[in-house]
Amino acid sequence: MVSAIPSWSDSAQYAKLSKRTSPGDVTTAMSSSEPGLHEFAALISPAASNSIEAMAQRAQQITGHHFGKTISLYVPLYISNHCPGGCSYCGFASDRELPRRKLGEQELDAELATLKNAGFEDVLLLTGERTEEADFDYLHAAVSRAAKVFHSITVESFSMTVDEYRNLADVGCTGITLYQETYDPELYRELHRWGPKQDFSSRLEAPARALAAGLRTVGMGVLLGLADPVRDSISLFQHVEGLRRQYWQAGVTISFPRICSQLGGYAPAQEVDDRSLAQLIFAFRICLKDVPLVLSTRERPGFRDGMAGLGITRMSVASRTTVGGYHTKRKEDSGQFKINDERDVEAFCETLRKKGLEPVFKNWDAVFHDAEVLT
Ligand code: SF4
Repeated sequence: MVSAIPSWSDSAQYAKLSKRTSPGDVTTAMSSSEPGLHEFAALISPAASNSIEAMAQRAQQITGHHFGKTISLYVPLYISNHCPGGCSYCGFASDRELPRRKLGEQELDAELATLKNAGFEDVLLLTGERTEEADFDYLHAAVSRAAKVFHSITVESFSMTVDEYRNLADVGCTGITLYQETYDPELYRELHRWGPKQDFSSRLEAPARALAAGLRTVGMGVLLGLADPVRDSISLFQHVEGLRRQYWQAGVTISFPRICSQLGGYAPAQEVDDRSLAQLIFAFRICLKDVPLVLSTRERPGFRDGMAGLGITRMSVASRTTVGGYHTKRKEDSGQFKINDERDVEAFCETLRKKGLEPVFKNWDAVFHDAEVLT
């Protein structure tokens, strides 16, 4: 398997280029018919922050052209919070004191039924790293159960082998989400204090393994606030480009998670403010025109509403970051992190409609794939 891996030292060169960007370079980048890494570096530069209005307009135009006026909705479902990992920024790290649990079969069915009744068709199943309590077989069984109910099942879990990804695909998994967190190998080592996630290379290569195994989508991202957002975004862009070249039929999505308050109290080392995040989203949209861009309930309502349709095309809604809780309506402080948009499905959809956007619960890629399989 050829690997589509970005080099961290390359990102330094492009970051320098980004710093030297002139206003003229920004205009050229924005109107480029085939924008690549050079144009992306220009659009995330300090010079481009003065052109943010123009970038927003261009991003909106491109989004409308490629995605229409739709926002696809998904919901995360934490099935286990057991984890042997020591990620400094995570409320589920093994040194945090919180009740550990995983969903049993009946609880999982109850959660799935509640989400289905709320209208969802697209669910993201989450676990920590592999443990005895929640290992591959447990995840495999959960995917298999969820696939009987939902149209699209993706997982955000530990990195796996090609065979494991293939086994998940066989029972109905459509894709994975796996953020690299940071592409800076030294910082990565520091932040991942112990546990299997310490293996930087294995994580870096996991999206390629998932696509090689036949999964249809990979969700990529960096955790904004850990490292220099310019260098990390350049590496992310390279990673995405490499995967799209290698697996041209694959669907790649990009998320923009910012660090939220969590048990453990990790504070961002490099704040990414709203304006900088908006600039990043616009730059990705302008340069990767047909890639779905995702914004979760980590962000507060005002920012989410502003970004919907202005680059962002996929959003989570009514999320809980605790294990269970959808069917019991139990609210706890022991989630992976604290969400900032607590609106329910109805309220959020209403806001989208007022903006002239149509919430979509079905993953149409999956519909087309099913049609192909049937013919
Ligand atoms: S980020 Fe994932 S692997 Fe790391 S501590 Fe949290 S749940 Fe575990």
